[in-house]
Amino acid sequence: MIFKEKNRAAGFKPGLAAILCLVVVIGGIWLLISKFEGERPQVEIALTSRFMTANSEVSGVVSDSKSGIRRLWIGLMKDGHETCLLEMPLADQKPGPDRSMKRIPFKFRVNTKELGISDGDAKLILTACDNSWRNWWKGNRTYLEKEIVFDTKPPVLSILSTMHNVSQGGAGLVIYRVSEPCAENGVQVGEDFFPGHSGYFQDPQVYMAFFAVRHDQGADTEIYAKAVDSAGNLSKRGFYYHILKKRFKEDTINLSDAFLNRKLPEFQGVEGWKAEAPPVEQFLFINRELRRRNNETILENGKKTEPEILWTGAFGRLPNSAPRAGFADHRTYIYQGEKIDEAYHMGIDLASVEHAEVPAANAGKVVYVGDAGIYGNIVCIDHGLGLFSVYAHLSRMCVEPGARVQKGDLIGYTGMTGLAGGDHLHFGMFIDHVFVNPLEWWDEAWIRNNVIAKIESLQPNIH
Ligand SMILES: [Zn+2]
Repeated sequence: MIFKEKNRAAGFKPGLAAILCLVVVIGGIWLLISKFEGERPQVEIALTSRFMTANSEVSGVVSDSKSGIRRLWIGLMKDGHETCLLEMPLADQKPGPDRSMKRIPFKFRVNTKELGISDGDAKLILTACDNSWRNWWKGNRTYLEKEIVFDTKPPVLSILSTMHNVSQGGAGLVIYRVSEPCAENGVQVGEDFFPGHSGYFQDPQVYMAFFAVRHDQGADTEIYAKAVDSAGNLSKRGFYYHILKKRFKEDTINLSDAFLNRKLPEFQGVEGWKAEAPPVEQFLFINRELRRRNNETILENGKKTEPEILWTGAFGRLPNSAPRAGFADHRTYIYQGEKIDEAYHMGIDLASVEHAEVPAANAGKVVYVGDAGIYGNIVCIDHGLGLFSVYAHLSRMCVEPGARVQKGDLIGYTGMTGLAGGDHLHFGMFIDHVFVNPLEWWDEAWIRNNVIAKIESLQPNIH
């Protein structure tokens, strides 16, 4: 019995050894397969553009899901000379939270002064190796090259025009030259930026920028030209300017129940409309929220401007008309003897006969035809280089978006659509995204002094 047991135990031993052997072999194969994994490290490098400034940040992530990162090297090849920018593992490089090196974010700065790098073309070179036993224990290798350009010099901005006298609510023109192509350049007026346009002068680096000073911007508003090159280097250049103070009218508008009862139903269905709210609350919604939205609808056309001057001479006004309200009039709204609201009127109201023909104020391209809430039916015309005219409260419109019009062409008929109490034309003008006083553009002498003379004085000097 004991012998038998012994025998059985003795017989069992070779079997156990075989299993152990198998486990060892399988384990060994598994180890070899995993140790000899063939997946290359993944590299993501974040560069906003191929241009680098005097002090650019480079960031990215290097990862290897199998054996983990063993080595990362990032360098720069410039004029045949190699410079190391980042080497890893560094002495202070800690493995990730899982204590492996499977995903390692990196970030470093390239300071051209510190590294003695001059402007021009260069190559960013990156190599990463993992912990695989492949390639004689050197691991799988990823190699990456990126063409870059060092541009550390901001563009040179030269102001060519003189005499920049601008009225509150008025327009101005600056002509300037940039020393290199700049995607973004123009005039900054306080918080507002007005882009410049090239192409008028033979030199493609000469730009014109029409700009506006808001009716409520003071004489101390900062105005300067600016340009940003492809690398992001910024140049600012001040110029002589003077902001002329203007007095704008105060106006009182008495809201009658008859007017509210007639007008409010027209706005039912606009987004945010409260059908159950009292009439005054409904009016306030129209005068504030809808006015803001409708101004946006008009002013967002500013980005669609043609890169050339489409107009000539003074702008026309509605024939045989009398002004009813002025630009930037400060309106106080009274209901049942109490002030309930206030607003600025950003155009000029002109009254003629009912359904009077509305001619285009000057040559241009129609950019918007349709409803604009409180402004009713409108037509918006681009006159080029960011200058626009807008015709509101029309009863009928007879142009299509995209149409080219000449000064005097019939574009529609006056009416009282939108928040209008009677038949009239609301005529507005704007530059890029800011309403300006149309009086200037109706004035031949103002145009001559502030636009034409500036362009003509420069034409002979520019080639
Ligand atoms: Zn108006």
